[in-house]
Amino acid sequence: MAFDFDLFVIGGGSGGVRAARMAAQTGAKVALAEESRYGGTCVIRGCVPKKIMVFASEFTPTVSDAQAYGWTIHAGGFDWSGFSEKLHTELDRLEDVYRKLLDGSGVTRFDARATLKDAHTATLSSGDTVTAKHILVATGGHPVRPDMTNAHLGIVSDDIFNLKELPKSILIIGGGYIACEFACILNGLGVKVTQYYRGAQILRGFDEEARGLIADAMKEQGIDLHVGTNIVEMAAASDDRSASEAGTQSDAAMGAPARESTDLLNEDDAKGGPIWVKATNGAEHEFDAVLFATGRKPNTDDMGLEEVGVKLGRNGQIEVDEYSQTSVPSIYAIGDVTDRVNLTPVAIREGMAFVDTVFKGTPTPVDHDLIPSAVFTQPEFGTVGLTEEAARDQEPVDIYCTSFRPMKTAFAGKPNRVLMKLIVSQETDKVLGCHIVAPGAGEMIQMAGIAVKMGATKADFDRTVAVHPTMAEEMVTMREPLRNA
Ligand code: NDP
Repeated sequence: MAFDFDLFVIGGGSGGVRAARMAAQTGAKVALAEESRYGGTCVIRGCVPKKIMVFASEFTPTVSDAQAYGWTIHAGGFDWSGFSEKLHTELDRLEDVYRKLLDGSGVTRFDARATLKDAHTATLSSGDTVTAKHILVATGGHPVRPDMTNAHLGIVSDDIFNLKELPKSILIIGGGYIACEFACILNGLGVKVTQYYRGAQILRGFDEEARGLIADAMKEQGIDLHVGTNIVEMAAASDDRSASEAGTQSDAAMGAPARESTDLLNEDDAKGGPIWVKATNGAEHEFDAVLFATGRKPNTDDMGLEEVGVKLGRNGQIEVDEYSQTSVPSIYAIGDVTDRVNLTPVAIREGMAFVDTVFKGTPTPVDHDLIPSAVFTQPEFGTVGLTEEAARDQEPVDIYCTSFRPMKTAFAGKPNRVLMKLIVSQETDKVLGCHIVAPGAGEMIQMAGIAVKMGATKADFDRTVAVHPTMAEEMVTMREPLRNA
């Protein structure tokens, strides 16, 4: 059977665009459909604008550091609308780059939503029907609100980048990457931040000592962090709550489905006004805004996936094998829609492994082992490999760990501490995990990640000469284990 294309990609985010371009470079006839903006979550409403906001927020301590170093310098106010305008100009530019990359690679673009009709056919919202030998689903995910009355009053991470003005106060719900990063960003921009996390310590799944240090630093910077606390009720502060409790709520309060996607933020919601919140500990407070950073869900709704036989998992994710192939042999899926490791560079890797497998004749399983990553809190957190807790469950380990005040901020008289930690196998001397909490930890862990991925031993770290004076030199100068586990 003759198909219109060799490959039809659904989703123009980091993974989809990379796979489309790489496949086109092999001579394949490729098309891609994107219903929203090219660049996807990472470029338009995730990593990129978030990191630019991190940079903006970091100037607050810089000013006081500069004063401590002898500069006569005073921070003026932060101009959100000026910043925001510039941010969106940059995002428009990047989106254009993505479009041009596709066009330049000879990929046919459809600015439309695609749904599957059968194993080789997609229907587009533009009315077109496209057939392809292979279909790659790379539709990403979206933030979700908890299923509670009035949840629509809260915003999600996508909305942050489109705020008309910064709230004076915000309650952030959650203790994951997004909650902690935005707590630090907004705090740095001058917003009064309160954070509720339902568990005992933020950043579940990461190394416990690192989590503790980050939580302490966040509190020290003024973030009102409450662990073991969750939101139980919320309402517009002007609402008559007793009436609401008596059952005269608005449509949303009457159990209309919680809004999942931010483009539904309507004008009434945006006008907002203070939000009244009741916490699990009984405390009641009002905030200008509530941010739900309570996780993300794969974008698989209403795409015809199950109808054509693609198996979905419990969270709605597309089930794939190690080659990113779904239960329908002609359909593959990569990135957040598969809910494996939800990071941009991983989606890109998965896209390239797919092209190697399907278009270059080299079956390439995706390597999800030892992925370095960073959480852009302040201080930053870089991590690769096993946490102490996971490692000691696996085998006997030595823990090398140091926490100290770095020269730059110590000179400025600040209490900031950094943490450098190595988890080492007692049997093989291999470094199983490396965890860094420090300014620039994301940059440092990229380099340390190479060594750990190569299987470096503690002896390899030890025979590497220190770069002096740096924070990272501690990574090669920790001689005695702090403890065994
Ligand atoms: P996470 O899954 O990391 O965190 C969700 C948080 O919300 C958890 O603390 C969770 O608590 C809490 N939560 C979930 N449901 C509820 C609820 N009903 N009520 C209260 N709290 C709740 O999701 P994020 O949205 O922060 O991030 C999604 C993914 O995006 C990350 O896993 C990561 O892969 C990626 N990401 C990566 C970044 C980076 O690389 N720097 C930055 C941002 C995102 P609990 O722990 O108890 O489950």
